[in-house]
Amino acid sequence: MALVRYPSAMRRLINELSKLPTVGEKSATRLAYHLVNGDERDAMLLSESIKDCQEQIFLCSRCFFLADEKLCELCQDKNRDSARICVVEKPADVIAIEKSGGFAGEYHVLHGLWSPLQGKDPTETKLPELLERIKKASAGSSPVEEVVIATGTTVEGDATALYIGNAVAESGVKASRIAQGLPKGGELEFADEVTLTHALRGRRAL
Ligand SMILES: [Zn+2]
Repeated sequence: MALVRYPSAMRRLINELSKLPTVGEKSATRLAYHLVNGDERDAMLLSESIKDCQEQIFLCSRCFFLADEKLCELCQDKNRDSARICVVEKPADVIAIEKSGGFAGEYHVLHGLWSPLQGKDPTETKLPELLERIKKASAGSSPVEEVVIATGTTVEGDATALYIGNAVAESGVKASRIAQGLPKGGELEFADEVTLTHALRGRRAL
């Protein structure tokens, strides 16, 4: 007797959904079932918004945060302190720090960390772009005075911070590291606003 299976379009949907982080096959099936049986308009809106994001969202050419123009909203804001750059691992960290309200400078998103164990080199992140950005700023009228390294307190986060600290010091710019109050092994994205504000205020020179 042949096994009964979901129709192929639904199998494809389950397959795509199960590629999402934290979604296993069971959850993917439940979500797919909901999308197929739920409100058709909601399902269409979801599919359109995924398409819009794919077509309209890319990385800011300056700080590599998410943008829908060449420069992101933060880089377009003339009121931010361009003498200070806060370096983070991923876009969600920018959002976390912005929510804390503890930083008024600009950002640089690495999109990865140095991970010797996984054979991931610092140059596979946006670090070379950061050094280039600092060099360009130094040659212009608004040099960078401080690089605030706000990678998480994981082994990779610490290793990356040390590496960036050394690289930045070579260009004569002060580097500091946020730490105070952040739990060891902590991801920035999940820190609460008060902790983040303290961590930023209590940053130490590297
Ligand atoms: Zn930007």
